[in-house]
Amino acid sequence: KASVMGGENIDDEEATELLEKSMAKSALEKLQEDRKSLPIYPYRDQLLQAIEDHQILVIVGETGSGKTTQIPQYLHEAGYTKRGKIGCTQPRRVAAMSVAARVSQEMGVKLGHEVGYSIRFEDCTSEKTVLKYMTDGMLLREFLGEPDLESYSVVMVDEAHERTLSTDILFGLVKDIARFRPDLKLLISSATLDAEKFSDYFDSAPIFKFPGRRYPVEIHYTKAPEADYLDAAIVTVLQIHVTQELGDILVFFTGQEEIETAEEIIKHRIRGLGTKIAELIICPIYANLPTELQAKIFEATPEGARKVVLATNIAETSLTIDGIKYVIDPGFCKMKSYNPRTGMESLLIAPVSKASANQRAGRAGRTGPGKCFRLYTAYNYYNDMEDNTIPEIQRTNLANVVLSLKSLGIHDLINFDFMDPPPSEALLKALELLFALSALNKLGELTKVGRRMAEFPLDPMLSKAIVASDNYKCSDEMISIAAMLSVGNSIFYRPKDKQVHADNARMNFHTGNVGDHIALLKVYNSWKETNYSTQWCYENYIQVRSMKRARDIRDQLEGLLERVEIEVTSNASDLEPIKKAITSGFFPHSARLQKNGSYRTVKHPQTVHIHPSSGLAQILPRWVIYHELVLTTKEYMRQNLNYR
Ligand code: ADP
Ligand code: MG
Repeated sequence: KASVMGGENIDDEEATELLEKSMAKSALEKLQEDRKSLPIYPYRDQLLQAIEDHQILVIVGETGSGKTTQIPQYLHEAGYTKRGKIGCTQPRRVAAMSVAARVSQEMGVKLGHEVGYSIRFEDCTSEKTVLKYMTDGMLLREFLGEPDLESYSVVMVDEAHERTLSTDILFGLVKDIARFRPDLKLLISSATLDAEKFSDYFDSAPIFKFPGRRYPVEIHYTKAPEADYLDAAIVTVLQIHVTQELGDILVFFTGQEEIETAEEIIKHRIRGLGTKIAELIICPIYANLPTELQAKIFEATPEGARKVVLATNIAETSLTIDGIKYVIDPGFCKMKSYNPRTGMESLLIAPVSKASANQRAGRAGRTGPGKCFRLYTAYNYYNDMEDNTIPEIQRTNLANVVLSLKSLGIHDLINFDFMDPPPSEALLKALELLFALSALNKLGELTKVGRRMAEFPLDPMLSKAIVASDNYKCSDEMISIAAMLSVGNSIFYRPKDKQVHADNARMNFHTGNVGDHIALLKVYNSWKETNYSTQWCYENYIQVRSMKRARDIRDQLEGLLERVEIEVTSNASDLEPIKKAITSGFFPHSARLQKNGSYRTVKHPQTVHIHPSSGLAQILPRWVIYHELVLTTKEYMRQNLNYR
């Protein structure tokens, strides 16, 4: 029994609770102090006044100055949430989650209560939620159910400089509703200084600029181009760790696979360096990283140790990690590219723009002077890199957006108020595809099929496959496949030292050589048969986390089936109907085998190859239907169906 002041006896449990409360209080006090030390804090009242005075305000402030976490709280404190929710959009889902988590801590409330977030397939909000962080794509979808965003008092389109497709479309929609909802406040916030463009677009909205804190960052270039940037980045991490004074390191990679490889190699090489050097804590951060691990990047580095954060573009402006002193910038990011003439879209690794490179370097100078190591030459930077990243709307497939706009009743797409209009060829291609999928009729009007498709937060081809599965009586299988495809390429686990075992386990799901879609279905169904066993996943080299996510997504797709009045029907013994349903959506992705083992796409003849990770890589069927193209050393088709 613990005894406290006054000799009163209280039991351990009570004592722990009291202790926790007082700790929580001091933690909360500390957080409140932190809030006051942010660069935005001295401008709080001026900013609130400007928002009061103007309906639309463009806000510009350096990354990490407190825009995302503070402005919604200021508005809440000033009473705006009495009139409606405050919505704040983020281009990336990790950012939406992480920022919401931070703000809920600062406010001392449980995440999902007053402060929540909403990302595709995951809604962490409740009736109570007044500060809602969400991806820009989710707000776009909310327009479908609430075209005037009536439940919001303020919409903050954050990270506007990223110019994602959804953000660009939101611009047009919120500008429009602001006209007939004078009570709605609209904030456009950006980390870059070219705010004039936003202001011009929003009928000369005033710009609120506040200074950030920025310490000098020394820039170092490589003398010659690097042949292998991954290896160069790893070598640089170790060099910094061994030769430079303490201070955390941030490295920019293009995606999860690179980050996992780098983590493995760094761990291995650090062991070889002996015990004399400081501890190196490795923290990966990417979109699919499980939430528990995401928080780790924000934990303070222990005395005498060094943290190295391996990040995707997410750490460029969306997330700020304090204490970064060294930035390593290989100069690449993963990008979607789209050819509006052929309608073909592909993922590829591309050089970043100068603007991105400068943002990246800036991450090293937030809490003190820093250094940025660019793994490219100065010549490269000045002569080869674009000034700015091209807005996504000008380099992507627009079918999804066109379908959403059509369901919002916006028919005249050519005259839609785009900040930077997409190429008209791209719009036409989107219309053509939606027509081919029977989502639009000859007049360009939404059909019943199109209306149903628009309910699914998926690519139109995949939505079509689901809607079509109704005809083939296999909607049960089709939503499992769609859920598995939506998880991305993280189902199968392939540890370096057990690749053969892992590959054998994977090939067990490929009996009959019908292709990857059916293999994914078999994985899902087998897992379900084991009653969702973790052990089973482990034995089959399958990532249990990805499977759980697939199950979640599947549950939601099942809910959407009900909404569009499609019955859940199953046709377990026969694969033919499933193949037909997939083909109804993906026929534009057909490719035919050539004599030399490559493939030729049918619609716009182009040479492509089966990705080595595909179960059909050794089979080479005469006809395949692919899910997506990825450009690495060659143009590869990933996730393929054997269409005989
Ligand atoms: P901005 O939107 O202007 O880039 P933010 O509001 O995102 O700035 O961040 C302000 C500060 O809040 C950051 O400098 C960082 O110190 C802190 N912060 C933000 N998110 C987190 C988090 N999840 N955990 C810990 N600190 C955070
Ligand atoms: Mg921000």
